[in-house]
Amino acid sequence: MDRVIVVGGGLAGVRAVEALRKNGYEGSLALLSAERHRPYDRPPLSKAVLAGDSDDTTVDADWDALRCDLLLGERATALRLDEPGSGGTVASTAGDLPFDGLVIATGAAPITLPGDGHQHVLRTIDEARDLRGRLVPGARIVIVGAGWIGAEVATTAAGKGCAVTVVEAADTPLANALGPEIGARTAPWYAEAGVELRTGVKVAAVEHGGLALAGGGRVDADEIVVGIGVRPVLGWLDGSGLLLERGVVTDASFRASTADGAPRPDVVAVGDCAAWWSGRYGRRLLVEHWDTALNAPEVAAKALLGGDAVYDAAPYFWSEQFGRMVQYAGSHAASERLLYRGDPSEPKWAAVWLTGDRLDAILTVDRPRDLVQARRVIAAGTPVDPAAIADPDVPVRQA
Ligand code: FAD
Repeated sequence: MDRVIVVGGGLAGVRAVEALRKNGYEGSLALLSAERHRPYDRPPLSKAVLAGDSDDTTVDADWDALRCDLLLGERATALRLDEPGSGGTVASTAGDLPFDGLVIATGAAPITLPGDGHQHVLRTIDEARDLRGRLVPGARIVIVGAGWIGAEVATTAAGKGCAVTVVEAADTPLANALGPEIGARTAPWYAEAGVELRTGVKVAAVEHGGLALAGGGRVDADEIVVGIGVRPVLGWLDGSGLLLERGVVTDASFRASTADGAPRPDVVAVGDCAAWWSGRYGRRLLVEHWDTALNAPEVAAKALLGGDAVYDAAPYFWSEQFGRMVQYAGSHAASERLLYRGDPSEPKWAAVWLTGDRLDAILTVDRPRDLVQARRVIAAGTPVDPAAIADPDVPVRQA
């Protein structure tokens, strides 16, 4: 292999470049990214950048030492594949780029609402800087979606003295991510921060100066921020023949395949755009969180170079909202029961999901030690004592 192209200059893209060199790849390497900025970290955008405490989140990478051509502000427009294993060509705004190894790391893009009014989304540093300038005392900021991004933007906007309303279609915040029971535990955090939370409210359209609600009614706003989720960026892969479902479908080593089932060991996909096979869970996962973008590229790079690495990590993510550090590890999609560690009406608590004596997942609120301990147990898959795990004074450990 001597011509590798990485498409997408987010965290997964830069980590793929680093991992390829670290694993001995000596050929030519180019990173193509639609953004004009060098790869940067996104988690601070809704936190320190929006708050005005940071303006630069560029990932620390030595591009000269990595011997990587940076094609910034250039977009891949199509992918043409040659015979399996023999590469192909990325068509782009910088011209045709032939490759014999390809890393797809185009991430995800925010979902928007219908309507002619202006809606802010928060995915890029330019969007964060633009929104930051509008978070002035007294400004009526209406946020659609009480998910991770909505809660973080609400926290920052309220902290800057804005009049913040969050409109959520479900009956609780975070209902999709954590389920309504845990989601409901976070609802009081909004009121404590002076944020009005309106649940069970569906938005029909974004209009000039406000939201039109389904079934009538309107919410006036100076600025509207939409945080209702993201979709993997796959449009440029239409017609490529790659198997695409919710993301680029890959095996447990992030290798793609074509829709007719032929493996493409010369194409890997990582980060928010990849739907990878998890042996641990026996299903495909699409994890739109930082930790996977950070760690998966090491495995993908080895696989692209012909190695046998497999990714089997349990998902992990965090969120900083309303003065709390919220962390989650594992997957509770098929869990039998939910237990609390500590009183969830107190400031610090955790919740664990179990199936029999197996710890499936943990959510911690300002209990980082629980998270670290539980992550180890979840990774090892060792049994726990369900009675002990409900006691917040006992460390999370195997039975
Ligand atoms: P991205 O970061 O989306 O990068 C993809 C890049 O590819 C982009 O630069 C894009 O412009 C480029 N691209 C797209 N299409 C093309 C094309 N056709 N040609 C060339 N380039 C293209 N996760 C957590 O775990 N905790 C957090 O607290 C947290 N906070 C977050 C806050 C915000 C505001 C956001 C937006 C995300 C947050 N995340 C958080 C999620 C985390 O940042 C993402 O999971 C991570 O950025 C994914 O990295 P990625 O490289 O896969 O994709």
